[in-house]
Amino acid sequence: PPPTSPARSSPNILITGTPGTGKTTAAGMVADAVGLELVTVGDLIKQRNLHDGYDEEFDTYWLNEDKVVDEMEEMMAGGGMCIDFHTCGFFPERWFDLVVVLRADTKNVYDRLERRGYKQNKIDENVECEIMQVVADDARESYKAEIIMELSSNTLDEMEDNVEKIAAFVSEFRRSHQ
Ligand code: ADP
Ligand code: MN
Repeated sequence: PPPTSPARSSPNILITGTPGTGKTTAAGMVADAVGLELVTVGDLIKQRNLHDGYDEEFDTYWLNEDKVVDEMEEMMAGGGMCIDFHTCGFFPERWFDLVVVLRADTKNVYDRLERRGYKQNKIDENVECEIMQVVADDARESYKAEIIMELSSNTLDEMEDNVEKIAAFVSEFRRSHQ
């Protein structure tokens, strides 16, 4: 089957990036602005037990990728979904019409995660992840370059611009897939 489904009349969007880059904020604003259904995958994993237990050291759940994909398959089928998660390569390529990778400066990632009360090792791990462009590389390995939008998310102005760009993509997709 083709990697993207032309059958969708409303797009599926993935908003990914290192924790602290602004995914949940942006995804919520996009979903509100253009009427997409928001799925915060981290919450779904906890609520439906789609993990292999809890990692005490990093204060996080062990992701069970197969369980997450199985659980989400049906909700992705009809389009119109806005997915928020910090890892992206394990989602089927065919699910998404747009993959947004949010990026932020080291200091911003650090400050935002510190404000969130993350433990030092978790802050350091995520700051390193952002410096090493782990999520952006993962996206580039997993999705076609044409559907990836890498956006800077350091200021509220940039956040607003990003939401506008994503909303414009959604409107154009709907217009051309009627
Ligand atoms: P993520 O879901 O990627 O972990 P959040 O959306 O929870 O990130 O944002 C983390 C914190 O950073 C929140 O307090 C949010 O208000 C702030 N924030 C996110 N993006 C921006 C931005 N572009 N400019 C200023 N503050 C931001
Ligand atoms: Mn989040």
